[in-house]
Amino acid sequence: MICIYCGQGTKTTITRSSPTTPKTWRRHKCLSCSAVFTSRELPDIALSISVSQKNGQISPFSTDKLLISVFKSLTHRKHPVEDARGITSTIVETIYTTQKNGIINMGSLRDLASETLKRFDHASYVHYNAHHYK
Ligand SMILES: [Zn+2]
Repeated sequence: MICIYCGQGTKTTITRSSPTTPKTWRRHKCLSCSAVFTSRELPDIALSISVSQKNGQISPFSTDKLLISVFKSLTHRKHPVEDARGITSTIVETIYTTQKNGIINMGSLRDLASETLKRFDHASYVHYNAHHYK
């Protein structure tokens, strides 16, 4: 990976992989300016996981859509963006460890988001359910 400050080459000084989720954290040191920075490696979820709709249509999983739907249920909180990011990461990690054959159906995704919000904040859970279970 090139240096984020000067664009020259770096070497990886530390690599840590999660034993439970498909993600890797790395520390890089620039060979030119000696700057140190961190990267996080995750699977490209849109290329790895598909969502099946009720009508049988299949579409790539969108972390952005999930983030927006979760965020809308957290706007009453003091830090809704940070909370939505954390909850979305939790949901995505759960998808990776529970999906079968790279496909999750929309109902299961909705249930997973609802249950994750329920554990975090009851008002957001109620809001999410009111807008996603009609
Ligand atoms: Zn550099």
